[in-house]
Amino acid sequence: MAPIAIAPFQTTSELTHSGIKHTITKTAPSIITNGNSTIINELDASKLVFTRNLSPRAVPEPDSPEVWTQSVCTDHMLTCQWTSTSGWGVPHLQPYGPLQLMPTASVLHYATECFEGLKLYRGHDLKLRLFRPNCNTRRMLNSATRIALPAFDPDELQNLIEALVAVEGEKWLPKSRPGTFLYLRPTMIATAAALGVQKPKEALLYIIACCFPSFDTPSGTAGPGGETVQQSSKARPGLKLLASKEDTVRAWPGGFGYAKVGANYGPSLIAQGEAKARGFDQVLWLLGKNCEVTEAGASNFFVVWRTSGGKLQLVTAPLDDKVILDGVTRRSVLQLARERLGGDLEIVERKYTMSDVEVAAAEGRLLEAFAAGTAFFIAPVHSIHFRGEDLEIPMSEGSTGKYTAILKTYLMNIMYGREKDHQWSVVVDEKQLDA
Ligand SMILES: *Cc1c(COP(=O)(O)O)cnc(C)c1O
Repeated sequence: MAPIAIAPFQTTSELTHSGIKHTITKTAPSIITNGNSTIINELDASKLVFTRNLSPRAVPEPDSPEVWTQSVCTDHMLTCQWTSTSGWGVPHLQPYGPLQLMPTASVLHYATECFEGLKLYRGHDLKLRLFRPNCNTRRMLNSATRIALPAFDPDELQNLIEALVAVEGEKWLPKSRPGTFLYLRPTMIATAAALGVQKPKEALLYIIACCFPSFDTPSGTAGPGGETVQQSSKARPGLKLLASKEDTVRAWPGGFGYAKVGANYGPSLIAQGEAKARGFDQVLWLLGKNCEVTEAGASNFFVVWRTSGGKLQLVTAPLDDKVILDGVTRRSVLQLARERLGGDLEIVERKYTMSDVEVAAAEGRLLEAFAAGTAFFIAPVHSIHFRGEDLEIPMSEGSTGKYTAILKTYLMNIMYGREKDHQWSVVVDEKQLDA
């Protein structure tokens, strides 16, 4: 597969080959060679050791209550340990099961944890695919190094993800169920058993694969990995968002909102729980006195509106202040819109406020809004509750907006192989396990 041109991440340099080298040199200098000899080991998928699970479990029915618990993982998981003295160890593909941690482990006290979320798709052509996994692995490198977890070569992480799914694909995404997916959760935690507040000296990288429901069609709701299980019943389809209050801030300039670190999510659960209890699906996170619109739950947020000058625009908040997660879905929506809808739509990454949205709505210029992320996929937004009032968002196509639907279809066609050989889809070679 040809290398994929990667759009700017935090700064353009950070996702290029030299950018990654720079991140590694800056954050984990010991894994760079000293003279000719590497001091400690780099992450190396070719050393993988496989131990087969001899008590495999049954695959639940798609969309069954069991799947909605979001607790059913596949038979195997990938683990790899790191220490500051010897670097990355041998990766193990092994039976899924509990981890052993000392009560003093750094992650349990200091939130030294980061994660990724991506999906494995069973295509309509029966092939198994990942969607832009290199974006997830690079983002994970940025998240890990933001919280002093060890650096690694993102391509090796992708190789490990592929090794896990190659083994799980045939059973967990059977060819008899095209159009289904598994949710993959690469995770890294600091494991050193000591209470000192210091840079982690030991870490564990692991990758699990979990059965997930679809959040984009029913009126379900999801956190970073989509953990809420109830489906609320409501008259109109689409997400109902509750705008965050001024005293509740998800992320701030100079903070770490741009990193997928666990520390961003725990503190947001009170607001999410309150939204849920009041009948909303997600929090729309606002920032500052002007109520800048940032993200919806753990998804990026887009609006389609007409400017007062009459221009049709697709708008989302910019990445500049490191407040917003650089979503792979966000990035893909922007790229596809620019390539394919640029004639109709102006694509804009800019700061905008709730008052901009309110004025557009009042003047009949607000046309669509949607949340975009791996767990939610592309989910049309039905209304925003802000300062005691419901701001209704039109749905030109009944249950969705016109461009929301078009963009979702583009993405689905790439993910499930209806669009042939797209450069963003990575076909995985499946391994046959003997019966
Ligand atoms: C994961 C996440 C997103 C969506 O990113 P994708 O790569 O599209 O899944 C958006 N915002 C936050 C805060 C997230 O955690």
